[in-house]
Amino acid sequence: MELTIIGPWGGYPKVNEASAGYLLQHEGYHLLIDCGSGVLAKLQNFIEPEKLDGVIISHYHADHIADIGVLQHARLIQGFLGKKMGNLPIYAHDLNAQEFKVLTYKEVTKGIPYHPGEVLQVGPFSITFQKTNHPVECYAMRFEAGGRSMVYTADTAFKEELVSFAQNANLLLCECNFYGEQNGANAGHMTSFDAGKLASRANVKRLVLTHLPHYGRLEQLEEEAATLFNGPILLAQSGLTLKP
Ligand code: ZN
Repeated sequence: MELTIIGPWGGYPKVNEASAGYLLQHEGYHLLIDCGSGVLAKLQNFIEPEKLDGVIISHYHADHIADIGVLQHARLIQGFLGKKMGNLPIYAHDLNAQEFKVLTYKEVTKGIPYHPGEVLQVGPFSITFQKTNHPVECYAMRFEAGGRSMVYTADTAFKEELVSFAQNANLLLCECNFYGEQNGANAGHMTSFDAGKLASRANVKRLVLTHLPHYGRLEQLEEEAATLFNGPILLAQSGLTLKP
């Protein structure tokens, strides 16, 4: 399994950057996790959009889905230009019918609902879900392949159920939209202390902080998380590639 950070920013992308987007690859299968603003431009540093095999969406906030439309255009236009590719599956929950409908576009992309209580098999990945604490319906995801595991919290306030959900993961890609002494819970987000607590109690091997704030000194997030978690901690940045 190989994870490439496409966009680490919460809410909106920094200049020339991207909000939530992560490329997860295994055995030649290329899965894009979330597709926020700026993701399509950044993604092309690593893979042509027409080579994606699947997309999975945690929730319908703009910083996680803004570039779905341009991804559809890219595949439509490359198809006109003669590139051969299949109808791209976009996995998402269908609890917002209006948003879910938009995931299906001509013969270019097809929205496929996931059912949070069931294991979803996508290419080589077995994916399970955990509902998060966020103002809209949102799901954390656990990806298993080749005996390794990665957990992506998506957007959430700290939630006890995430501890067992992330248990012993090789990599925890954890949202960290607030500094330690701030209150993230009201906005449905975690602080650096929450991220450290989750990583520690879930006994994960490595913690990557993402969905980053646009202010402050980001290293402070790592320092604060490290007061609670003894393992390696990294700040997500575009182009960072890791093997969970
Ligand atoms: Zn959100």
